[in-house]
Amino acid sequence: MTERPGPGVRAAQRPTYTEAVLKGDGQLSHDLDPHDRPPKDACGVFGVWAPGEEVSKLTYYGLYALQHRGQESAGIAVSEGSRILVYKDMGLVAQVFDESVLGTLRGHLAIGHCRYSTTGSSVWENAQPTLSSTEVGGLALAHNGNLINTRELARRLAPGATRATTDTEVLTSLLAQDRSQPIDDAAAELLPQVKGAYSLVFMDEKTLYAARDPQGIRPLVLGRLERGWAVASETAALDIVGAAFVREIEPGELITIDERGVRSRRFALAEPKGCLFEYVYLARPDTTIAGRSVQSTRVEVGRVLAREHPVEADLVIPTPESGTPAAVGYAEASGIPYGQGLVKNSYVGRTFIQPSQTIRQLGIRLKLNPLKEVVAGKRLVVVDDSIVRGNTQRAIVRMLREAGAREVHVRISSPPVAWPCFYGIDFATRAELIAGSLSVEEIRDSLGADSLGYISQEGLVEATTIPSERLCRACFDGEYPIAVDRDNVGKYVLEAKT
Ligand code: SF4
Repeated sequence: MTERPGPGVRAAQRPTYTEAVLKGDGQLSHDLDPHDRPPKDACGVFGVWAPGEEVSKLTYYGLYALQHRGQESAGIAVSEGSRILVYKDMGLVAQVFDESVLGTLRGHLAIGHCRYSTTGSSVWENAQPTLSSTEVGGLALAHNGNLINTRELARRLAPGATRATTDTEVLTSLLAQDRSQPIDDAAAELLPQVKGAYSLVFMDEKTLYAARDPQGIRPLVLGRLERGWAVASETAALDIVGAAFVREIEPGELITIDERGVRSRRFALAEPKGCLFEYVYLARPDTTIAGRSVQSTRVEVGRVLAREHPVEADLVIPTPESGTPAAVGYAEASGIPYGQGLVKNSYVGRTFIQPSQTIRQLGIRLKLNPLKEVVAGKRLVVVDDSIVRGNTQRAIVRMLREAGAREVHVRISSPPVAWPCFYGIDFATRAELIAGSLSVEEIRDSLGADSLGYISQEGLVEATTIPSERLCRACFDGEYPIAVDRDNVGKYVLEAKT
């Protein structure tokens, strides 16, 4: 069965303003192996203010470029000046929207979101953009990141104000709660009290807003269209809609975009702590961070890795696709030939068929298959971006040996991931992280590899060209830049199943 969104059900419209939520009838698809997931990001956001343009289509393509950041649900909010419409559903961007749906979403500004859940269950009600309504108008909001004082913020809401189970819904309700002042004034007052990671795009009927937390943990960039402006999680999403990169939204900055142009204000002092893992895995390789493509950084990481962990071998192969740039850099610096020894099925990440037990036992082969004639008899260096639980790498080593590899040396382009992330990446708990309890030698043994080498934290930071003190490195060294009260965080902090 292939999931398609339904024809759309129009919810009740309210009398004093015109807004509606359109809903497809989709259901969640199934991950093939929920116990063997790569790290997942907490969403992509996109916003556009461009009179005369098809803003919903621009947003669709912006989200399409950001699909890697969240694959559970997608949504777009749009306004033509007097009402906000939201359409959202479970599934990938291309499954949620089609030409006829986008044709109903007309206006001069829009925001969009693709979600991976880190606070609140993965259900339709928690898909974004969220929408809040008052007598004076609507407010739609989309969020990339994860708040760490959600429970405390939720207590400030008037009783019955929301049935929210997400940090985003709480934020939206708090912003909408006081409409006695303009939204940007309300945001400038509220945001300094919000803790955690948040790259936000939000809108009322006429104006687009964007804001980034004082640490700037998740990325957010501003672009110029011929007839307007765009805001996106990554520059790759600006490229796809033909917007020229203008600049990054600064940590602690709030911008307002309307017919008067872009206005900027600072709601908090910047204390930059950009996520180091964006360079390793999360961001697209064709995205630019701090003036340099992520691809260039990853190739450089591979060069550093080769210098730190040399080995005699016949061939360097990547775990596709995420290990590819670092494998290129490793091969270049080591002088060992580069080759493709594993073929990836690009479409297997999400399926709508629950695999049978027999298929499930095939495990990794659903995703990756070795090229026997390439790997047989060779001493291989296999380059991957990270090890979370170790299941994938263990299966790869076994598969390569079965295909005839003489030696398998694993090289990882990030330091050991030993600590959970509370700022928007799903790394599970410390107990589930293999580096949380095992030494590098024990991990090598567990993987069955001939040798194992992780890049050092210093080497990775050096490759980014960003000073160490301006980066969050907490999942590697446990030093959290925003203090976390462990009793009050967690995916289900607002739900019964804590
Ligand atoms: S803990 Fe790791 S994944 Fe999370 S924001 Fe910090 S560097 Fe990024």
